[in-house]
Amino acid sequence: MVLLEESVCGRGPSGRNGGFCHGYWSHLPRLRERFGDAGARAVARAGAAIIPSVRAFCGANGVDAWLHESGMLRVSAAPAQDPAVDEEVEAARELGVPEEAVAVSGDELVARIRSPVFRRGVFLRDGATVHPGRLVVGLRQAALGKVRLHEQTRVTGIEDGVVRTEHGSVRAREVVVAVNAAAAGWKPLRRRITAFGSYVVLTEPVPELLEQINWTGGEAVLDGRMFLHYFRTTDDGRVLMGSGSGPIGFGGRIDDRFWLDEATVARAERGLRRLLPGLDEAKVTHAWGGPIDVSSDHLPFFGTVPGTRIHYGAGYSGHGVGPSWLGGQILARLALAVDDELTRLPFVTRRVPKLPPEPFRRLGGGLVRASIMACEEAEEQGGRGSLPARVGAALPRLLGMSVGTR
Ligand SMILES: Cc1cc2nc3c(=O)[nH]c(=O)nc-3n(C[C@H](O)[C@H](O)[C@H](O)COP(=O)(O)OP(=O)(O)OC[C@H]3O[C@@H](n4cnc5c(N)ncnc54)[C@H](O)[C@@H]3O)c2cc1C
Repeated sequence: MVLLEESVCGRGPSGRNGGFCHGYWSHLPRLRERFGDAGARAVARAGAAIIPSVRAFCGANGVDAWLHESGMLRVSAAPAQDPAVDEEVEAARELGVPEEAVAVSGDELVARIRSPVFRRGVFLRDGATVHPGRLVVGLRQAALGKVRLHEQTRVTGIEDGVVRTEHGSVRAREVVVAVNAAAAGWKPLRRRITAFGSYVVLTEPVPELLEQINWTGGEAVLDGRMFLHYFRTTDDGRVLMGSGSGPIGFGGRIDDRFWLDEATVARAERGLRRLLPGLDEAKVTHAWGGPIDVSSDHLPFFGTVPGTRIHYGAGYSGHGVGPSWLGGQILARLALAVDDELTRLPFVTRRVPKLPPEPFRRLGGGLVRASIMACEEAEEQGGRGSLPARVGAALPRLLGMSVGTR
């Protein structure tokens, strides 16, 4: 087996993400809308194997990836975000799995994490955090014993049975393309994903401030925005705050804006200050970002290019830490022509709605993004977005698409 990597394994998003690791119980409303109740249940059940598998991998390979299985909280931080919380509770109840999404009142939230802007929340037990850098170094090390790894080797062309690189080509009967946002520039997938930027800021260690706001349980937390904030603590007492509101790509190009965008870094820090004012004294010491592969319905998809043995997986939409384990299981089955419950999941069998072609996608996506962000900012200040912003924000739903990173 040969693995071709244009940089160093883990230098990209897998080594620089927020470390939220979960399956799909947190996605029930979206899964039901897209796949119906049976499809939603099948995906969520398959995803329930993710955290135990990460735990087993770390145990078997002696990897200390700072795995904490402390669950995940989605909190509403503005009245307009209440439905995002309530829908998750409702969906789990209606599917007969209320234990997967438990309502948390405002008073109960205070005991877990105190913030003057949190209204209520939902606790998802299927949630963990990892140190992505530690995990990816462990994965790379484990892979070294099993595959021939060529780093600094950019793939420049893929045909059935041949993969071309800048240095030479590899013949392979089965080819797997798993390049995250770079797939937005690959012809078979370019109408199905767009590259967005996601950014995080990291504070200095502030364990005593965390105790003051009762956030000592290690929960991973998300808010209810479409361009969501995601935040967590680390083993050394820092807080990481992420914002999925980064730039949108054009025609699959992954340019510098995906690695350094000061406006998105500033939004992540503003999120930290608004959501957790009890940490006002915590200095931000680090900030970074990277590209994510957003599909039109925010769910991943896997398949084989018709008439070839070229298999692909993409569309994790900013939630790939855990799901890429599931993706790996599916891709292995596609390459080995195994037909089982994983290859029959809707992630494999569905038709992924197409995105508009460029330049309409970039222009339309930019307009909608700006509209949603304007509405969300206004809602957090207790107001409403302007009429044009509300119209722009409503467009994707009318067209049956999702924009944002929730
Ligand atoms: C700042 C940030 C925070 C995030 N936080 C979270 C989070 O908390 N939880 C979560 O679930 N997800 C999060 N994500 C998303 C998550 O990181 C990704 O979904 C996940 O890492 C995707 O894994 P992957 O293996 O598909 O992609 P990657 O880790 O990006 O791997 C793809 C690899 O393909 C290589 N490649 C690309 N093109 C070529 C080519 N032509 N030739 C050879 N190699 C190529 C790249 O160099 C890269 O190493 C975050 C992302 C970012 C950027």
